[in-house]
Order: sequence, then structure tokens, then C-alpha cells
Amino acid sequence: MKILVAVKRVIDYNVKVRVKADQSDVDLSNVKMALNPFCEIAVEEAVRLKEQGTAEEVVVVSIGPKSCQEQIRTALALGADRGIHVETDEMPDSLAVAKILNKLVAEEAPQLVILGKQSIDSDNNQTGQMLAALSDMPQGTFASEVKVDGDKVEVTREVDGGLQTLALSLPAIVTTDLRLNTPRYASLPNIMKAKRKPLDVKTPADLGVETGSKISVLKVESPAERSAGIKVADVAELVEKLKNEAKVL
Ligand code: AMP
Repeated sequence: MKILVAVKRVIDYNVKVRVKADQSDVDLSNVKMALNPFCEIAVEEAVRLKEQGTAEEVVVVSIGPKSCQEQIRTALALGADRGIHVETDEMPDSLAVAKILNKLVAEEAPQLVILGKQSIDSDNNQTGQMLAALSDMPQGTFASEVKVDGDKVEVTREVDGGLQTLALSLPAIVTTDLRLNTPRYASLPNIMKAKRKPLDVKTPADLGVETGSKISVLKVESPAERSAGIKVADVAELVEKLKNEAKVL
């Protein structure tokens, strides 16, 4: 089985995001970037399936500027076999990403495509679902457990108030939730080895995809500053403030 994993370069989750002075976007200058955490979980799951002998090859793909190759190399250091970089100057929107992935699915014919459930920068939670529609493949989103069984994959999904288990016929699409696994750290020897693993570069035009977006960002604002807390002397004062100042009692 071949597994295709889509990985996105995003701002590192430890970084406090700053908004540009003109509010046109988030300021990415000199900011630490990383593999989207849900994509890291996707890579880990694919590598585990390979280690169990269920998969033979794990291919990772990232779409965006040349710098995305850093995240592809990270995924290769985590155990993926080969990378594909689809190079564009701007980060394309979810529909363009799904169209590009759909072309790669046609070229690579993977049995399983694993994506993160969402990118932590744009919080779209759309790409896996759009790819399922475009490719006509079944989807198991928000997976907390994935088991391949013959020509089916069983996906346990985190739904409101419980878990739902689905069986999907392969080829299928899975999007990862936080509790699917705990990704490993890349060891130094594996980081060195990853530098020699194959990485193909293509453009959206090579795949016949137009990346222009019909969505434009009008404004980005920082959340309102929270005012500092205060200390109260006793429970009576706390109750009094909750009643008369916060008016929540
Ligand atoms: P989103 O729909 O943007 O929240 O992203 C969900 C998932 O789609 C991510 O976790 C990735 O697996 C994949 N994805 C989104 N954008 C890209 C991209 N530019 N390159 C590769 N994969 C992407």
C-alpha cells in the first residue's frame, strides 16, 4: 500500500502571533515556522502503518513557497520515504490545495491519503473534505484510531459526546485528530538521512491547476487585550463582586 500524506508549513504553535500594522495579515517576518501539528500526526500514523508492514511507501506532499521543503525534510526525517513539493509563491487556499492533491492522487494512485483535520494558521478544516468530493473517495475525518483491514480502513472518529467507527473502502481519505497518536522526534541520524531522500519539485501548472483564489482577506485583528485579574480578601467579597460587578450571579 502507498500512503500519500499532505503536510503544511505553518507558524510554530509556540509563537505568539503578531498582526501586521496595516491589519492586512499576520506578520510572518523572522517568525519560527514548523510542520502543522495535525500533519505531524498524519506523518506519524503513515510511518507506523509502514513499520507494521501494512504500507510499503509513504509519500509526503507540501504546496507553497520553496521554504515548504524544510517541512518536507522534517517529514522525511520522521520516516517518510519521498517528498513532492508543489511550488507556488503564495500559500494557496484550501480548494486550490485540494485540486492539486486530487491531481497527485491520480498520478500516484495511493490507497490511503492522510491529512491533518485542520491547519492551525487558517483553521479552515476543509481540504480533506474537498479532496474527498473532487476525487470521489470516502472520507473518515477527525480520526482518533485508524486500522487497515484488507480492502477497508476502519476509522474511529471523535464526534460530539462520543466515538463513531466507520469502515471505508480503499482508496480512502483520513484526517487526523489530536488523540490519534503522539508523534516521535526525529533523531539526528534520521535528519541526516532525510537530506538524501528523493524530493521532486513540480508547479501547479505542471499539474494543470489554476491556484487563483476567489477569497480575499479583508482584515486581520488581534484579540482584545484581557484586563489583569484582582485578588479578593475572602469569599464574601468574591460573591459580592460576582453579583454586583461581573453580574454573573
Ligand atoms: P485546512 O483545510 O487548511 O485546515 O487543512 C487541513 C489539512 O490539509 C492540513 O492539515 C494538511 O494536511 C492539508 N493542507 C492544507 N494546506 C496544505 C498545503 N499548502 N500543502 C499541503 N497540505 C496542505
